[in-house]
Amino acid sequence: MMPTLVRTATAVACSVLVLAASPARAADPQVVVRVYDMATTDAAARAAALRVAAGAIATAGMTISWRDCSRGGTDHPCRTVRDAGDLVVRIMPVATSVATSEDVELGFAPIDPAGRATVIATVYYDVVQRVARRTGLSARELLGRAVAHELGHLLLRAPGHGPSGLMRPLWTDEELIQNRPDDWTFSEADRRQVQTVARESESASTTADDAGSVEALGR
Ligand SMILES: [Zn+2]
Repeated sequence: MMPTLVRTATAVACSVLVLAASPARAADPQVVVRVYDMATTDAAARAAALRVAAGAIATAGMTISWRDCSRGGTDHPCRTVRDAGDLVVRIMPVATSVATSEDVELGFAPIDPAGRATVIATVYYDVVQRVARRTGLSARELLGRAVAHELGHLLLRAPGHGPSGLMRPLWTDEELIQNRPDDWTFSEADRRQVQTVARESESASTTADDAGSVEALGR
């Protein structure tokens, strides 16, 4: 439970919707992320934001391979079927979530409490712009961090937030203005969890491949 004191209008929050019921090295696990930007048409600004996001995710030991499926994006219109394990980020123009407190939400990611993979993260561009203006941060930097945070939920596959680092639940204006590097990286505990999930999904997909080849051989 977060203390009430920080739940003010001058903080941004991220809600994790619970469904009913990592600097990168060449050997780091890689995840493909499709980006659907419905809010901006500036491909260069989007690319800059995605570089910020990839840099933050790299602190969890994960490398991102982006597919920019947005209008004007390099991979538009992304007609191929999404591969298993690929993730999706939507950048929506306006926040549509119903505010449950006076905190403003930068985005959300649905998480299955049973730990099964969910694939879509959403970030609200109007909130990003508003907070960027208020704190003097660049909108692309804040957008990148918000994208990294929401993708972080998908990579962690666990509801809830960490006490510190990128995956903390509330980002106060004060923190945004101070801009401490530690606030924008994955904590050690989160990094370990991301790596554990990545290893598990890799071995699960290897098992599935094996099953497929056995079947193909007619056994
Ligand atoms: Zn969150």
